[in-house]
Amino acid sequence: MSRIAVLGLGRMGAAMAGRLLATGHQLTVWNRTAAKAEPLRAAGATVAETPARAVADADVVISMLSGPEALEAVMDEALPALPDGCALVEMSTVGPDAVRALAARVPAGVSLSDAPVMGSTDKAASGGLTILVGGPGAAVLADLGTVVHCGPVGSGAAMKLVVNAGMITAITALAETIALADRLGLPGELVERTLSAGPLAALLGRARSTTAAFPIAHAAKDLALAGDVSGVEFPLITAARAVLGTADGDADLGAVVEHVRSTTSAGSST
Ligand code: NAP
Repeated sequence: MSRIAVLGLGRMGAAMAGRLLATGHQLTVWNRTAAKAEPLRAAGATVAETPARAVADADVVISMLSGPEALEAVMDEALPALPDGCALVEMSTVGPDAVRALAARVPAGVSLSDAPVMGSTDKAASGGLTILVGGPGAAVLADLGTVVHCGPVGSGAAMKLVVNAGMITAITALAETIALADRLGLPGELVERTLSAGPLAALLGRARSTTAAFPIAHAAKDLALAGDVSGVEFPLITAARAVLGTADGDADLGAVVEHVRSTTSAGSST
C-alpha cells in the first residue's frame, strides 16, 4: 500500500481516485473546487485544503488536471512541498512541452513521469485505462490500467497527442460520413449497421458510447496542442478543430455526430 495524493478531481481524477481507494491505497485528495472532494471523503479519502498539504506525506503524487495552464498553477503550489524520494506522475493531457517545462522545475530527489491515459471515465473507474508512460512510472499505475512504456520523460505525452489527433479527427470525419448519408436519404439505422461491418466500427462504437465523458472542449484542446508542438499545420486536424469549435464544449465527443448532422441537415442554412 502506498500513500498517494491525487491533485485534480474532475471527471477523470475523481474516477481514478475512487479506483485507488477501492484497490486499498491510502489516499489524500485536493481539488480547486472543494465540493468535488466530498464523495471521496465519504469513501475514505483524506481531503487536503491545499496542493502543498495534499502532497506533504505522499509516496506518489498524481496530477489529473484540464491542461497546461492548470498544471502550471497547481505545480506552483505543490512542487516546493514534494517530499524527498516521492514519485510525481503527471497524467493530464498537456503535451510534451508542458512536461518538459515541469521537468525543469521538479526538485532534486523527486522522480517525474508523464503518464497520460487512453480511455474515459468508465475505464478510469474500473482500472481499465491504457497508460502511456514516459520516464520511470510507478507501481501503483498497474491498479489504474495497463502500462505502455513509451520512452523518456515527455514521450508518453507525445504518444497521447498522436493517439488523440487520430481518434478525434477520425470521429469528426465519421460525423460527416453520417451527415452525408442523411443528405443521400439513407435510413440512419441501416447506415450505422453497415458502417459497423467495416473498419469504422470501433469509431462508431466510441461515438455512440453512453459511459464515456470526454468533453469536446478537451478534444479541441488536444488538437490545438498537436498543432502547437509539431509546428506544422496538418489540414485534417485543423479542419476537425474548427468543427469542434462550433459544438457544445461540455458535451461528450460522441455528440459531434449529431452536431454535424444538425448543421448539415436539409433544413439548415448551409
Ligand atoms: P475536467 O472534468 O474538466 O476536470 C479538470 C480538472 O482540472 C478539475 O479538477 C479542475 O478543477 C482542474 N482545473 C482546471 N483549471 C484549474 C486551475 N487553473 N487550477 C487548478 N485546477 C484547475 O477534465 P477531465 O475530463 O477530468 O480530464 C482531465 C485531463 O484528462 C484532461 O487533460 C483531459 O484531456 C484528459 N483526459 C480526459 C478523458 C475523459 O474522458 N474525460 C480521457 C483521457 C484523458 P475544478 O473542479 O475546480 O474546475
